[in-house]
Amino acid sequence: MHHYSKRSNFTWNGTLKELGNYSCSERVRPSMAAPGSSSGLEVLLSTLQNAGDIESTLNILNVLDELLSAGTDRRITYMISKGGSEALLSALVTTARSFSPNFTILLPLLHLLAKVGHRDRRIGMKAEKAEAVLPTLTLLKQNVKHARRTAACLWVLQVFCSSVTTATLLGQNRGLDVIFRLIPPHTTRHKRTVKAAIDALAALLCSKANVRAAVANGYVSALLKLYEDWHNKDPNNETIPIRLALLHCLHQTTHCSAGRDALVAQGGISLLYHTTQTCLASKGLESLVDPAVQLMRKCYPKCPLPLTSDQSVYTFPLPGRPADTAPGPQDVSVEDDSDDDIGNEEADCGKEYDDDLESDVNKLRSRPEPDRPLEQLGQYVRLCPELHHDFQDLDSDSEVDSSSDEEGLLNEDFRTDGRSRVNLRDSPSHSPLEHPVSTVEGDQDGKGEPPENHLQACDFHSHFLSSSSVKQDSHPSMVDRLLEKHGACIPHHDPRMYTAAAALTKSIPEYSILAFPDFWGHLPPQSKEPMAGRKPNVQRKKVFEDVQRLLNPEDIIDEVVFDLEDPSSQGSPDHSDSLSFFSKFECGNLRKAVHVRSHEYDLILNADANCSQHHQWFYFEVSGMAANVPYRFNIINCEKANSQFNYGMQPVLYSVREALEGRPNWVRTGTEVCYYRNSFCPSRGQKSTSFYTLTFTVTFKHNEDVCYLAYHYPYTYSALQSHLQVLQQSVDPRKLFFRQQSLCNTLAGNPCPLVTITACPSSKSWKDLHQLRNRPCVVLTARVHPGESNASWVMKGTLEFLCSSDPVAETLREAYIFKIIPMLNPDGVINGTHRCSLNGEDLNRQWMKPDPVLSPTIYHAKGFLYYLNSIGRTPLVFCDYHGHSRKKNVFLYGCSVKETVWQSGSAVNTATLKEDPGYRTIPKTLDRIAPAFSFNSCNYLVEKSREATARVVVWREMGVLRSYTMESTYNGCDQGVFKGMQTGTGELEEMGVKFCQSLLSLRRNTMLYNRRVISQPTLINLDDNLLDHKSRNCFEDDEPPCAEEIEYLNDSFPEPNRNYLDSEVNGNTSNTSEEEEDDEEEHQITGKSRRRSMKSRLYPHLIGQETLNIKRSPCNGMNISNGQYLS
Ligand SMILES: [Zn+2]
Repeated sequence: MHHYSKRSNFTWNGTLKELGNYSCSERVRPSMAAPGSSSGLEVLLSTLQNAGDIESTLNILNVLDELLSAGTDRRITYMISKGGSEALLSALVTTARSFSPNFTILLPLLHLLAKVGHRDRRIGMKAEKAEAVLPTLTLLKQNVKHARRTAACLWVLQVFCSSVTTATLLGQNRGLDVIFRLIPPHTTRHKRTVKAAIDALAALLCSKANVRAAVANGYVSALLKLYEDWHNKDPNNETIPIRLALLHCLHQTTHCSAGRDALVAQGGISLLYHTTQTCLASKGLESLVDPAVQLMRKCYPKCPLPLTSDQSVYTFPLPGRPADTAPGPQDVSVEDDSDDDIGNEEADCGKEYDDDLESDVNKLRSRPEPDRPLEQLGQYVRLCPELHHDFQDLDSDSEVDSSSDEEGLLNEDFRTDGRSRVNLRDSPSHSPLEHPVSTVEGDQDGKGEPPENHLQACDFHSHFLSSSSVKQDSHPSMVDRLLEKHGACIPHHDPRMYTAAAALTKSIPEYSILAFPDFWGHLPPQSKEPMAGRKPNVQRKKVFEDVQRLLNPEDIIDEVVFDLEDPSSQGSPDHSDSLSFFSKFECGNLRKAVHVRSHEYDLILNADANCSQHHQWFYFEVSGMAANVPYRFNIINCEKANSQFNYGMQPVLYSVREALEGRPNWVRTGTEVCYYRNSFCPSRGQKSTSFYTLTFTVTFKHNEDVCYLAYHYPYTYSALQSHLQVLQQSVDPRKLFFRQQSLCNTLAGNPCPLVTITACPSSKSWKDLHQLRNRPCVVLTARVHPGESNASWVMKGTLEFLCSSDPVAETLREAYIFKIIPMLNPDGVINGTHRCSLNGEDLNRQWMKPDPVLSPTIYHAKGFLYYLNSIGRTPLVFCDYHGHSRKKNVFLYGCSVKETVWQSGSAVNTATLKEDPGYRTIPKTLDRIAPAFSFNSCNYLVEKSREATARVVVWREMGVLRSYTMESTYNGCDQGVFKGMQTGTGELEEMGVKFCQSLLSLRRNTMLYNRRVISQPTLINLDDNLLDHKSRNCFEDDEPPCAEEIEYLNDSFPEPNRNYLDSEVNGNTSNTSEEEEDDEEEHQITGKSRRRSMKSRLYPHLIGQETLNIKRSPCNGMNISNGQYLS
């Protein structure tokens, strides 16, 4: 940018070394030419320190300046490496020490030191070592009446402050005070020097001691006044850099809590808010807005969440622990988002190797001893009924054999209900449903049962949908009438069956109420839903709205309209002007709702049961709305540092009214969706812990509708139970072996289903039975993380496909025995937790040594896998379905020794490692056949922090080569035909289908591969190499940085541009008039004056000493004692 580079008389082509020689011989006395092997530069530097006379020193300074100005930073870096900083510092100390320092030399010396020091990260330490720090401060003190000298000293002090100890040293020697007094209220004079003073002050404030001193001396208040003054008196926006620099100082002083408190106490928030509003109107002031907004966010007073406790409302007495003992202190670190994702993306970026990767080949290859004795595995024989079934009934016409004593209670219930097949249209109305039980809490409005002909959405507030299993008289319930009138046509869903299943579901709060969407069912909407476009500066707009809470307290309603802990507040329609909320139903999660302003609500999520964290999943009912009015919802206790909500993702909404009109759809909804750090902190916990706000605005379509909002498409445990029931009744038992059993009971006593699906043998001949019993096993699991409801929809797709008459499904059933555990964490799902089970633990971290009592589903799932191993039926494929909240697309994580060792940077030669590359077949196939799938997002690395996950344990301990985690995004895809679209349940279910289809290719490839191995074992590695180029470590966040700063605490003040300081310094040099020129004018400097200014730099002794005409002007009545020297 600066104009020196265009000068033709300094266009050198050689190296810096040559340049030094050249300039040396050309401009410096011949006697000073390089002796021996020293480069010209070194000679120059050495001469600089020893030169006795002014003229040669000036010449050297000029040559150095020209040299360094002409090129890129590489030259300065070279000079620094050759001791340039030390030479300049030494010259400075020598000159400054003299009785009457000669500014003819000092000025160019200081200028050069500022430019070089700005690029030398160790300049502060070097200055201290050379004892140049305090002499420079003294020079400043002695020359405060000379604007140019002052500026030069200030720049040098500023660069010295790159070292905190140097800054502290300056502070201890009155440096803060000296510099602070140089900052005047608005003035048109000496703006360059004023700016230098503000920059130097900001630099000094890198030291905590200085910040404390500054706050104690009232600088915050004074800086605010200065900022206001410069803002008010700058109608033409000519001093933006100065205003920006003042904001920088304010940022620095608010690094301590006393500074933030002072800013708030001095009305800083209001001042910043109002000045920023006027900045918004002017395009040129954009650069001021963000720093001001970040400053407001940073200083906004911390506010504890309005909760009685940070612990979950739901507690569950754990076996072996006293019931009244509160759970131990929770791990304060926030769990990372999904089992195979690296928690802290920033921290891992740029690292050459990931420390988390297992680099020990022996450990990677070793197979640990089983965690239990073999004798205990006998109990799992029952879970392989297909191996022992004699299929004697194959030729008869009887129904599916359901005599097994492992059949769930549900079967019995449904059979006694007289319905062996689901047919909603024909189903009689003598269902177990009943109408509202008046004793159900919350049914307080006395409306009772609405007249039959006036059924409206508001009549289907969840309170009317009871799952209570108490049988009532034959009086037809409202639900029956509803079903008769509107019919239900969701495939594989039966509302009555759902209600019956829900009645058996055991929950901590003992739910008696159904959410309408779960009861009624969901169909994917007709059209695909694009990701939401993000309006520019939406976060800024939201922050302004948040700040207004502080500025306009009269607008605040602050009324609790829902509180999970206070039944009197639940869903009561007393708040006539307010929305009603409710969440006490399966998978529901909303702890508290506060009506903040007329159309704005703060929502607080419940922590995972027996725990105080993992707030992410939400699902609640909202009613009592007016149509076409935007309501702003803020979920204020989110924990993750970033979210796909900043990248086009929206929450989902289900409208009862729409469902009754034939559109029973969960749809993506919300405008101005934004996720950012807020000023709330835990109610009891550490103030330093902070939360994030997910905000979105919903404009409801209908008046007085009943709607449901959720993080993602809900899928309850009761939905799974009724779905399995529907599936079982839909298959032909003569062709398809479908068996639902209970793996075990959960802590809360809910059966954890295990489903076996395979083809029945074509006859009961020994040969056909033998074929069946030798089919390889495929083990699929899902929903270990309750908040990952997408995994359940993928699993739904898998289950329905495997039970379908699709020819590929038939082939798969003939090829494999599928063992499916569709919900590894039923208790978590039921109770609306996000991450954990009832013991407050992440079940996907328990696989190494699962506790039989506290983690029964994992203990028995692992036991079952041990059993399969023990009978020689190690699964061919294991896959655990998950959801991923920070990435797009669907992808797999697998396990590979070679790739892990290679990526870990281990010294082991990976070429000598032999590994079956078969783990890549499924992802490769999925990349071809599944549009949502992204091969490039897959990886096969074994991380130490993931060694207790299902994927790694099943791979290492069971020896399953193809052991995967399948991650499905909550958001959408950024590639393929779904690019730019948010995923719906349709796409998720399709993914479950595609995963099954990919297993076909595996079978082919396995056979082919086996033949190859026999003839040519070396092909293993060849194949591997062919694929390696596509491998990509996808640990880095796949999103670009968010357009707006989500984390204001990472001090986001823009780094000053290096060139800026250069041009300021150069301006100080070239300007000969006593009044400085404006930046604008400087840019328009004519060729003639440029030549003149160049000359002045080359031969400054020809130019007269600057004469400053210091005038004093009153401070315009402002109480600012600053700028007393320069204004
Ligand atoms: Zn997960």
